[in-house]
Amino acid sequence: REAKALLRVRDELKLSLAAVTVLRQRYLRRDAHGHPVESTGEMLDRVATFVAAAEDTYQAGASEQWAQRFSTLLRSLDFLPNSPTLMNAGTPLGFLSGCVVLPVEDSLRSIFSALQYASIIQQAGGGTGYAFSRVRPAGDLVASTGGTASGPVPFLRVFDTAADVVRQGGRRRGANMAVLDVSHPDIYEFVTAKAADSAALENFNLSVAVSNAFLRAVEANGTHRLVNPRTGRTTARVPAADLFDAMCESAHRCGDPGLLFLDTINRANPLPHLGRIEATNPCGEVPLLPYESCNLGSINLAHCTADGRMDWDRLTNIVEVAVRFLDDVIDVSRYPFDELEQAARASRKIGLGFMGLAEMLASLGVPYDSAQAVRLAGRIARHVQDTAHAASARLAESRGAFPAFADSAPANSVAVRNAQLTSIAPTGTISLIAGTTAGIEPMFAIAYARNVLDRHLLESNPCFERLARDRGFYSDALLTEIARTGGVRGNRRIPEDVRAAFPTALEIAPEWHLRMQAAVQRHVDAAVSKTINLPTSATVDDVRKIFLEAWRAKVKGITAYRYGSRPHQVLTLVSPE
Ligand code: UDP
Repeated sequence: REAKALLRVRDELKLSLAAVTVLRQRYLRRDAHGHPVESTGEMLDRVATFVAAAEDTYQAGASEQWAQRFSTLLRSLDFLPNSPTLMNAGTPLGFLSGCVVLPVEDSLRSIFSALQYASIIQQAGGGTGYAFSRVRPAGDLVASTGGTASGPVPFLRVFDTAADVVRQGGRRRGANMAVLDVSHPDIYEFVTAKAADSAALENFNLSVAVSNAFLRAVEANGTHRLVNPRTGRTTARVPAADLFDAMCESAHRCGDPGLLFLDTINRANPLPHLGRIEATNPCGEVPLLPYESCNLGSINLAHCTADGRMDWDRLTNIVEVAVRFLDDVIDVSRYPFDELEQAARASRKIGLGFMGLAEMLASLGVPYDSAQAVRLAGRIARHVQDTAHAASARLAESRGAFPAFADSAPANSVAVRNAQLTSIAPTGTISLIAGTTAGIEPMFAIAYARNVLDRHLLESNPCFERLARDRGFYSDALLTEIARTGGVRGNRRIPEDVRAAFPTALEIAPEWHLRMQAAVQRHVDAAVSKTINLPTSATVDDVRKIFLEAWRAKVKGITAYRYGSRPHQVLTLVSPE
């Protein structure tokens, strides 16, 4: 019976087995016995109808027509919203945003209130980011008790444990991002927190907020001051290069911390009068002010080609409907706290981005690690950004600009409905549902084992498989062979142009990863989620080099990950070499 049900769901939208498994376990609504009561198509209709209800508040009776358009868009898998929208639309949980940033001040009340908010948000499947930079350092005075403070890092462990506990009843692992300013006296403890213990802070990504001044001091071999945020007093002077080395060594060992370039981020802050941005959501793609949230949604670029070329008109059409959809999500989302609702409605930030870039490039025969690919990706990002801003300006004509616009924009700037429009999300699950490659990441492997909810599923890239069959070099034996190393670049049984067009993440030089991130970032309002993959043999110096290059390339953040440096990575090769 289970197998029959799987086949039915799979047939409807031609989904992969991995997609159906995830959907049935976590996304589809279920009855009291835990059996799904909707198909994937019905899930998408539920989302479309619920979101389109917002249209009636602007024009009576308009929702029916928009529900139809949204449903067509989602069922085509040309565009999907972030997971919480798919899971929660039209259900009692009702919170639809992928991510939130919460404030953490230097008091127990504030710290534990952030934890309470985070738990509720994570129960709904949202991720939470926070800056712990204002929390007084370890050993500092606690006036009310006469005792000494623990500093930020032990609090992270409390948040991490809470995320583990909430996961049991929630929808998925509660993702967290902790940011600490590079001048905080506990920065060394923070930087080494995960590298020192591979089981520590599993629900956290760590990012050091680095300033231009600090990085210039690293370059010039200067000193760097650590400052107690409570008193403003300098507690130590350290060689900047020494602290930077500690970051690079930890990142080399376990992938954490990443860096957040706060000066670059704040230069692009659309609402500087509302405050300085200090943190991002867990995967780094959305810098936000405290209590702000973001509804993400991603366009499937693999669907935007025709006859071996980009289909720009199709992309334009998708962007226009997607912006409207995401703006509607803000109105119909249920906010568990007033602060979240107020912040969301004041700036109406949305995060439209894309997935399937690598599949699209491969289908066009353009190697990911080529100047042509980087140029094309930049053009696509610019096209999405321009079209999204125009669509948001048209929405502002009928619905009004976002409320915080009046006191934010110079008189001559165009009124828009949303303070921030584009962002490149990791699309970890929605790309799996859509059956394409994640975000702007290259293919991880042409054939590999994916760990889905503790099961290993062997997958091969559908685009490669189709091509191999069409060109007559497909065989099961070939796929099994590919699965051993993941890649095809050195495989002489495969035609040369195919080998060039299908590079995998580890075959692509780190510099190309960064070039791609930088080219896309230039035309994205918020930020770009991207991992710079390094081979197992990469050195600490390689990490140092890529971190500094990233700063100079003006990306907003950087994450480097050396293959195999974490015991439980999500994607593994069948027998890693
Ligand atoms: N996220 C989360 N838990 C997860 C994965 C993601 O809270 O297990 C949040 C996190 O804020 C991340 C955002 O969702 O930055 C978008 O991630 P992704 O695009 O991978 O999510 P999807 O919509 O594909 O599930």
